[in-house]
Amino acid sequence: MPFSRLLNSSYTAATAIVRSNSSNGKNLCSHGLVTGRQTSTRVKSPGRSFGSSTQVHSAFSHLSARPHSLLTRVNGTLPSSKFVKASDSSRAKSTCTHQKEFALDIERLFHGNQEFVARMQKDHPGFLVKSANEAQKPSLMILTCADSRVDEQAMFSAPLGTAFTTSNIANQFEESDAPTNAVLGFAVNALRVRHIIVLAHYGCGGVANSMMPVPSDKSFAMKSVQDWIDPVRKIYQTSDRPEIVAHREMTKMTPLTELPDIHDPAFRALVEENLKATVRKIAASKAVQEVYNSSEIDDKVNFFVHGWIYDMETGKVFDLGVSVGPPGCEVPASPFPLVAQAKGA
Ligand SMILES: [Zn+2]
Repeated sequence: MPFSRLLNSSYTAATAIVRSNSSNGKNLCSHGLVTGRQTSTRVKSPGRSFGSSTQVHSAFSHLSARPHSLLTRVNGTLPSSKFVKASDSSRAKSTCTHQKEFALDIERLFHGNQEFVARMQKDHPGFLVKSANEAQKPSLMILTCADSRVDEQAMFSAPLGTAFTTSNIANQFEESDAPTNAVLGFAVNALRVRHIIVLAHYGCGGVANSMMPVPSDKSFAMKSVQDWIDPVRKIYQTSDRPEIVAHREMTKMTPLTELPDIHDPAFRALVEENLKATVRKIAASKAVQEVYNSSEIDDKVNFFVHGWIYDMETGKVFDLGVSVGPPGCEVPASPFPLVAQAKGA
């Protein structure tokens, strides 16, 4: 039986898991904690997805407007004595009217963790102790979107330890983004992964929002999001893909008021173009070029960068056919169907 991460049916739709970080912003709270240090978040919560093509604004509004319930911390470095129990706060008393729901979120996680521990003990006795006491040796690095419905280990039925992962809104890579750059550097230099997979998904909310007019909401939270997706917006504004050009022309006269449909050809094309851009940026990054140009390079340290797309409606993964590798090395064969086949071409 394949392992799976803690993401399963026992998750509540209102639970947000902050796991990885790599953009410009501020952590949304996890069980009421606000930290001032992390940048972007990985939110895994079926049904409360930030990435839904139709739910992005409402989902984000929900998260940003959500009262920080149980504990409130001013920044990530304060000692525990600075924590304030919500029950002691008059403000909290006036705003936290859904304590039961908040508690249920946490309770479901607790039960999910218990199920995970029991399943591992039953199906894979000793695995956790063994893996915890050995250095990790993943052969893959995966960069995904932070969308709660995009779970790389689940979709590949991959065991724990398979992939070194990071995520951000719309699976982007910017060399100036320290967290993602650090993950990449560690993956190619220390872990010596053999494949870097950029995993996009159709229906990406970050991509959908980049097709919309810039919102009038100038809150810090929304500005952070808009700043982060700006490179995708630029692709939308400059791409010569016929689907995107046609969409731009259409919306010149009538700007979009709703997020595009998941099947909108321009939307799908922009997901693909954004994926290509990320693959290109990673392949051209200093961390990658440093290894590719190293005199020590041999088969053991070679790695390839791939662009794949997850179809959330079918669960299938497609290959965009834009893989790159070190000079002179042939890209290995891929059994994943090309995106053209996903389109029925
Ligand atoms: Zn997405």
